[in-house]
Amino acid sequence: MRHKKLISFALPVAMILILNGVNIMNLYGGTVHWEYHGPHGPDHWGELDPAFETCATGTSQSPIDFTSNGITQYGFSEGLDISYSSSPVELKNNGHTVVFSYQPGSFINFNGKTFELLQFHFHARSEHTINGRHTALEAHLVHKASDGQLLVIGVLFDLGSPNQFVSKFWDNLPTEHLTFSSSNTVNVEDLVLDQAGYLAYSGSLTTPPCSEGVQWIGLNQIQPVSADQFNAYFNLFGEDTYRPTQPLNGRDVTFYFKTES
Ligand SMILES: [Zn+2]
Repeated sequence: MRHKKLISFALPVAMILILNGVNIMNLYGGTVHWEYHGPHGPDHWGELDPAFETCATGTSQSPIDFTSNGITQYGFSEGLDISYSSSPVELKNNGHTVVFSYQPGSFINFNGKTFELLQFHFHARSEHTINGRHTALEAHLVHKASDGQLLVIGVLFDLGSPNQFVSKFWDNLPTEHLTFSSSNTVNVEDLVLDQAGYLAYSGSLTTPPCSEGVQWIGLNQIQPVSADQFNAYFNLFGEDTYRPTQPLNGRDVTFYFKTES
């Protein structure tokens, strides 16, 4: 008798799961489809999946607009404490960005904590803005500490001369869902030029699930990128791939001046 009851209960449950394809995906570890525009765009990320709720309810979200009025603290910096090695990279187009996976062994120390570089990737146009203005591109260098905390360095690119760093990959950017290894080795130290200081604040992932507690460092030194290089990246996705800026909600933004050496 017990078995019969179980079967009669299980059948309608199975039908509900089949009718609701999105939920069945979640049960089996699939990812919910999100985009940068339209009904699956940033304004709706928080509604697409319970796991994305922080995108709508979070109070320390990224990106933000950097303005001189928004700076709440000042500090002196002797330069970022970075120890990056050269690495071959694997390029993967995941439909939202191109991720350049870095080999283990590259680190940044920030406020007494060590974070290891995992990967870098790009957004077009920039996610962080300066007085409301987007630059052409933004690179995110994603680092992780042994306790799981993330630290992301944001590097902005404005239209100008060709960028030597990106030129190593730009002729061979992977189209959607393709992955390949580059024969070129790079050192992200070439991107992290901090002669002009940097801004630091506590924020979030800029893509679902928008998890908070991410330490952000925004370099005050802007890299050049040529119009051809910008177009080559932009045309991979054919649309802007940034999340709009989020309210500060009273968070501190610290500007670290580079001291003369
Ligand atoms: Zn990013």
